[in-house]
Amino acid sequence: MSAFAPTVSINSVLDIDEKLLDTYGIKVLLLDLDNTLSLHGSPMAEKGIFEWLSKMKSLDIKMIVISNNTNKRVKPLAEALGLDYVANGWKPFTFGITRGLKRLNADKKHSAMVGDQLFTDILGGNIKGVKTILVEPFHIEKGWLFVAKRGLERLFFKRDYSKLNNK
Ligand SMILES: [Mg+2]
Repeated sequence: MSAFAPTVSINSVLDIDEKLLDTYGIKVLLLDLDNTLSLHGSPMAEKGIFEWLSKMKSLDIKMIVISNNTNKRVKPLAEALGLDYVANGWKPFTFGITRGLKRLNADKKHSAMVGDQLFTDILGGNIKGVKTILVEPFHIEKGWLFVAKRGLERLFFKRDYSKLNNK
């Protein structure tokens, strides 16, 4: 299996439900922040995230934010969401993911890294040996670096953007 291939690819974290968790035996979610729970740089979570988090909590799913962004960016939003967090996660290196797993006392087998980027979230999760869930970014970034990165991503894993229109 390619190191860039997610275990499963979905539109949004909001599509993670009891059925998906059961299917893959997932009890722990390691959550990327930017473009996974909120728009990049936005101080607010996206619509529906609060409700989704409380549904996950009611299913006894343990969660932690693992972001490559700074403490300054991650702390206020994670706290507003009632989630523990690891900032400066350095994905695709695995220290951030490792720290998150330790903090939750979680085992790899029942944990999944959830994020919108192949080269950080998915690659990092696959290297660490957790399950990986690729979501569509809430917002397609316009900067040249992001355009280049998304272009490169397409060489490794073909996202099905047509799914976005089905909702
Ligand atoms: Mg992201």
